[in-house]
Order: sequence, then C-alpha cells, then structure tokens
Amino acid sequence: MKIVALAGGVGGAKLAHGLAQNLPPEDLTVIVNTGDDFEHLGLTICPDLDTVCYTLGGLANPETGWGRVNESWNTIGNIEKLGGPGWFRLGDQDLATHLERTRRLKEGQSLSEITRDFCNAWGIKQMVYPMSDSRVRTMVDTDEGELAFQEYFVHRHCEPRVKGFRFDGVEAARPVTGAREALESADAVVICPSNPWVSVDPILKVIQKINRPVVAVSPIIGGKTVKGPAAKMYTELGIEPSALAVARHYRSFLSGFVLDNVDSDLSAKIEARTLVTHTLMNSNADRARLAMDVLHFIGSL
Ligand code: GDP
Repeated sequence: MKIVALAGGVGGAKLAHGLAQNLPPEDLTVIVNTGDDFEHLGLTICPDLDTVCYTLGGLANPETGWGRVNESWNTIGNIEKLGGPGWFRLGDQDLATHLERTRRLKEGQSLSEITRDFCNAWGIKQMVYPMSDSRVRTMVDTDEGELAFQEYFVHRHCEPRVKGFRFDGVEAARPVTGAREALESADAVVICPSNPWVSVDPILKVIQKINRPVVAVSPIIGGKTVKGPAAKMYTELGIEPSALAVARHYRSFLSGFVLDNVDSDLSAKIEARTLVTHTLMNSNADRARLAMDVLHFIGSL
C-alpha cells in the first residue's frame, strides 16, 4: 500500500516512524512542513524536516523528540558566553546539519536535493521531501503584533495570544516533483497528528488539492495537546479544542478520521468514517501499532 504522510515535527515524526515500521521503504513518502524554517546565526534551520529525518534515522533524542540523541551543547554554550543568542537550542551534532545545509543552499542546491543526500547519509530509505523548495515562512498574528514563527514558538514560549496565521511566500510555492508524483500514485494520504494550524495547513496550502483518500489522526486527545500550542491556538481563535474541531478543520479533505478512545463520544458527530483507537505514542511499539491500525482503517475505506 503506497502512503504519503504529511508531517510537522514531533507528533508527525512519531507516526511517520510507525508507518516506516509497517511498510516497505519504497511505499512511504513523507512530505514535511517548512513553514517554521528560519534563519538564525547565519544558518538555515529546518526544525520539522530535521525532526522527521532524525526520527526515521534513529538519531532523535527520545526524551525531547527533537534534536539528536547523545547530544553535547558546547558551541551554543560558548556563543552565549560571547553574548550571542542562546534561546534556540542547537546541539553540536545538530549544528553540523545546519552548517552543511546552509553551505549547499548557498551553492545553489535545492532543499529537496540536500534532504535526499542527508537521508542517504543517515541510512533513511523512505523518501522525505520538504513541502516545497521555495521559501515559505509562517507568521503568527498575535495581540502583540505579527511574530515570525520561531520567535513566537521558542523565544516567546507561545505566550502571546494568537489572532491568525499568514504563510509568507505560500502563493508562489509548489510541491517538489517527487512529492507531487507520490501524491498522484498514493493509495492514501495520512495527515499525521501534527499542529493543524502551523504544521499541516502550510503543507495543505502548498499541495492545494488531494485526489486520493485522506485520513487524518487527531493531535488533540481529550481536548488537550500531547505537547505544543495547538489546543491553546484553538481556544484563542474562539474554537473549543477537540478531536471534533480537528476533523472540522480538515473537513474538505477527509475520507477518514482517527481519534482516541477517550474521545469516542465525538465519533458520531464527525462527517467522515472514523476509527477510535489508542492514539498516544509513548513508545516505538505504540507508533508501530497506531500506524498498523491506520493502515487497516485505510484498507477498509
Ligand atoms: P512540533 O512541530 O514538534 O510542535 O510538532 P507537530 O506539529 O508534529 O506536533 C504537535 C502536535 O502533535 C501536538 O498537537 C500534539 O498534541 C501532537 N502529538 C504529539 N505526540 C502525539 C501522540 O503521541 N499522539 C497524538 N495523537 N498526537 C500527538
């Protein structure tokens, strides 16, 4: 079964890893959000792309879900000693990724080519694509004015109240060829449990239309996020956070929707076929089992 997964950072990476444990590598393509990429310390940093690659390559820090396992922090510590910015934590091994990516981008290589080479170097056999080779930058409209995504997310700890989002550059952005071909030949597209507002919406805006069955997994369990600001964003935008709100968010795309056992009472209100199952991925086994459930569900649609 050929699957295209749409993923943001940690939540998306976990389900992508589960799918990778259940599918032959050539049957899984992951398209990753680049709206939260940014320029920092002179480097181009692609947090979601790196989280997905590190997770698929078995290189991710299992405690945080982002960054590298067995990481050291000498460079960022010394940058701080010199009075430089330390708010965005970049480990020593992780910095090599940003340095080498930035060098290649400056030489004129595309982000998708660089990502493919990095995946080869890390032994990742699945295809991983940035949502576009063009620059898209998520801007968060808040009660304190418009903030660049990482400024809002990491520097300001998501404290400002959200009023809306803007994806700078999205109108001109196109999916990369390989991603478009994978979307055309997929048996289904899986929207991973990532933040609908800032991780999945940018990808959907770039892809625009999906002609294959789409199944989404709720990132909201019992009205709360597992991590991150998705539920806070729903509340601040005047929508009660719930799996139902997520299903409505994706309404125009959905063939099927996967929600947690604790939300089973919402299932009847969702205007798509539903699968109610255990969706919290605390271990590798959880990832593999949820992915297996999702694949069986797709098979039944
Ligand atoms: P970020 O860029 O690291 O914030 O990552 P994402 O956008 O991929 O994911 C954040 C969303 O993933 C949050 O809304 C979380 O609730 C959700 N999430 C994280 N882990 C899990 C999990 O194990 N199960 C489910 N269902 N959602 C999860």
